[in-house]
Amino acid sequence: MKIFNEQHEMFRATVRSFVDKEIAPHVEEWEAAGRMPKSIWPRMGELGLLGVEYDEKYGGAGADLLTTAVLHEECGRSRSGSFAMAVGVHTDMASPHLYWTGSEALKEKYLPAICRGQTLCAIAVTEPGGGSDVAAIRTRAVRDGGSYVLNGSKMFITNGATADLYFVAARVEQGDDRRRHKGISMFLVERGTPGFTVSRTLDKMGMRASDTAELVFQDMRVPAENLLGREGVGFYEVMRVFQRERLVAGLHAHTMADRALEDTIAYVRERQAFGGPLSDKQVVRHRLADLATQIEAARCLTYAALLKFAAGEDVVREISMVKLFSAEMVNRVAYDCVQLHGGYGYMREYAIERFARDARLLSIGGGTSEIMREIIAKALLG
Ligand SMILES: Cc1cc2nc3c(=O)[nH]c(=O)nc-3n(C[C@H](O)[C@H](O)[C@H](O)COP(=O)(O)OP(=O)(O)OC[C@H]3O[C@@H](n4cnc5c(N)ncnc54)[C@H](O)[C@@H]3O)c2cc1C
Repeated sequence: MKIFNEQHEMFRATVRSFVDKEIAPHVEEWEAAGRMPKSIWPRMGELGLLGVEYDEKYGGAGADLLTTAVLHEECGRSRSGSFAMAVGVHTDMASPHLYWTGSEALKEKYLPAICRGQTLCAIAVTEPGGGSDVAAIRTRAVRDGGSYVLNGSKMFITNGATADLYFVAARVEQGDDRRRHKGISMFLVERGTPGFTVSRTLDKMGMRASDTAELVFQDMRVPAENLLGREGVGFYEVMRVFQRERLVAGLHAHTMADRALEDTIAYVRERQAFGGPLSDKQVVRHRLADLATQIEAARCLTYAALLKFAAGEDVVREISMVKLFSAEMVNRVAYDCVQLHGGYGYMREYAIERFARDARLLSIGGGTSEIMREIIAKALLG
């Protein structure tokens, strides 16, 4: 299925060359360190990779959603889930809240540095008490003169320890159960705001080069003009950007899986057993054929939803299917590719081992597979 034109492919060549030369050689070192150097962000800004769809007047490239898709496919191929996720959070999970719902003054103030990679973004929605039930968030924002005063905490925040600008979801009014979505709003919070603390950096199973943090806000005073969109309707805006985040997860899943399959094919061609290469055994050949088919199915589902999303259609059901199918697919691919590597697949020195740990997040982060099934079931059954 071909959806990209010549311009998209030229952009792909730029991203691929950057990833191959400036990311791939450092992946192991960054995994061991548990973070990536901040210098990658201005470099990506210089190459025009951080504001792909944003208007040129804010320093963006004014390109289309398919160009964004190319960016995430190439980051997904990097053999570093951490890098792909950190970029996805900055470009398509956090900063779109500003671009789509922020005031002109806020866009002028923050977007140019976001596009240049001088301001790194994080999105803080999940709390220690729960992530799936977004409407139940407890971080409170109380209006006091020209400010809102925020109290609460956030959990599992990607880029949380290193970001400069945080997109924080907080409840402005309590609301009863039936109206509980209504009170949620999104605030822009600069690192260093008094009352803001990165309380701890979390140790993880995979995505180890991406920093994940817990944040605490104690009487944190945020200027009232840093409220994004209208007070109390943030929930719907968060949900809209979630669609973009889930599409990005689909793009990461099939490209991460592509790379794992390529590595596995190279391995089974080399590895000898019972008098010949593993790639000659019919069981192995059929397993690889099944994996390639599942990856292709995920890719086609993602592209179909991407095209509808680009056309402005309401695709919540389709994007939930993309997230569900792709996340489950990449985990099946991870299991089988490790299996086909035998004992070496269990060793840290092989990229496939990292892939299996990184892939595990895809059915949890950005909405779990169970929540995706709930959304799809609701569309089917009401
Ligand atoms: C590495 C990492 C990075 C992350 N980055 C970010 C980030 O940058 N910003 C951010 O805001 N969040 C982030 N998250 C949080 C992530 O989105 C949440 O972990 C996810 O939404 C699930 O929430 P939870 O962990 O609280 O699980 P819970 O909501 O407590 O769910 C636990 C289990 O119960 C299931 N469950 C819950 N409700 C139902 C139901 N109604 N029916 C059936 N099953 C149900 C879930 O599917 C899951 O299996 C990150 C998480 C991780 C691990």
